[in-house]
Amino acid sequence: MKSFRKELWFNVPSRRAFINITPQVDECLRESGIREGMVLVNAMHITASIFVNDDESGLHHDFDVWLEKLAPHEPVSQYGHNTGEDNADAHLKRQIMGREAVVAVTDGKLDFGPWEQIFYGEFDGRRKKRVLVKIIGE
Ligand code: ZN
Repeated sequence: MKSFRKELWFNVPSRRAFINITPQVDECLRESGIREGMVLVNAMHITASIFVNDDESGLHHDFDVWLEKLAPHEPVSQYGHNTGEDNADAHLKRQIMGREAVVAVTDGKLDFGPWEQIFYGEFDGRRKKRVLVKIIGE
């Protein structure tokens, strides 16, 4: 069995954003040379997510509005976590949107269903953060 590991770095200039990272994950898969196996992609920070969904701007806006209703950023004083920081909402948003995605690798390709793409969800940006890509197989 072969194994491949790489960290992708992001520094999102806004507090929140959704970024399609499928091309970077595809590039990792090419680098790995693995043809059959699994890809794990996970955010290495507890205020960012990895998830699989559609690359459609209306849907991304809907996610943002929905998450802001569930866990509004303001007022920051409403959260117990915000004693020395202001990112409690980002922890909650990350919890809903998930930590990782696992995608099957078949015949050297990411074996997606229709419209599936891999996204990095940032909820407390404006600093450097990492995503782990781990690929195992042969
Ligand atoms: Zn925090």
